[in-house]
Amino acid sequence: MYGAIEAGGTKFVCAVSNEALEVVERVSIPTETPEVTMQAVYNFFDQYELVSMGVGSFGPIDVNEASATYGYITSTPKLKWQHVNVLGMLKEHYDIPISWTTDVNAAAYGELTFGAAKGKQSCVYLTIGTGVGGGAVVNGQLLQGFGHPEMGHIHIKRLENDAFEGVCPFHNDCVEGLVAGPALEKRTGKKGIEVKANDEVWQIQAHYIAQALMNYTLILSPEIIILGGGVMHQKQLFPLIRQEFQKIVAEYVAYPDLDLYIVPTKLGDDSGIMGCLQLAKEVAGK
Ligand code: ADP
Ligand code: ZN
Repeated sequence: MYGAIEAGGTKFVCAVSNEALEVVERVSIPTETPEVTMQAVYNFFDQYELVSMGVGSFGPIDVNEASATYGYITSTPKLKWQHVNVLGMLKEHYDIPISWTTDVNAAAYGELTFGAAKGKQSCVYLTIGTGVGGGAVVNGQLLQGFGHPEMGHIHIKRLENDAFEGVCPFHNDCVEGLVAGPALEKRTGKKGIEVKANDEVWQIQAHYIAQALMNYTLILSPEIIILGGGVMHQKQLFPLIRQEFQKIVAEYVAYPDLDLYIVPTKLGDDSGIMGCLQLAKEVAGK
């Protein structure tokens, strides 16, 4: 069987699948201290005979195999998880090949293999939730360099008259600081879910998201961009983002039909887990 862990800041979703990558069992474990959470993770997987495992983790994480801290969660604001060797803990417990990447890379891979980007060689997956994070597949491979992309922190040009200070403690004008769920809530003074579909805030959100998508498009030229996360439950955002995208790209580059280019996830909450299972399958035997 293959094992998968989608390690998030609020919960760890663990699943096991058969050879055909059909999920046989899954659990959701609250993210507490590393000791408590990892023990619960072991308790779940110890019931199965695993061939390999795929892990998609919240971050930032170290994905550089040559690094002394490969497999660690690094400078996360979740203090108890700072500099925790998650991959090492798993390897100590399970003597099997384990694939290690970011949660959003895993989601991008899940969507590419089974979801909205099935049959394509490239995609960008962006989640707009508690934070903004992006993963990309280029030529069928997850995009990584010395580390992993941090697409949520690219610089955004503010709208004139937008005095909102943003919520990212590191940057004034990054996409996460301007449009993630906490930014939306601070701007409106409401819970994200309570912001009405016709609120004027969506125009602002759409404009900033479109700027980010323009940059990803110009740099990576992905075949499709998939948007997920809590904020994107507001479906009226999709046409607004497409309109803004069209406006600001200004016919400089040809891109696919926007209804097919900027799309919702197909796998919903399963993109990450399915990506992890596919990565587990690929790492098996290595
Ligand atoms: P996480 O990013 O922690 O995995 P989510 O993707 O569910 O979790 O994102 C949670 C954030 O999304 C919260 O900040 C919340 O404000 C926002 N959110 C959740 N649902 C909605 C909604 N229907 N409309 C607008 N914002 C939402
Ligand atoms: Zn930032």
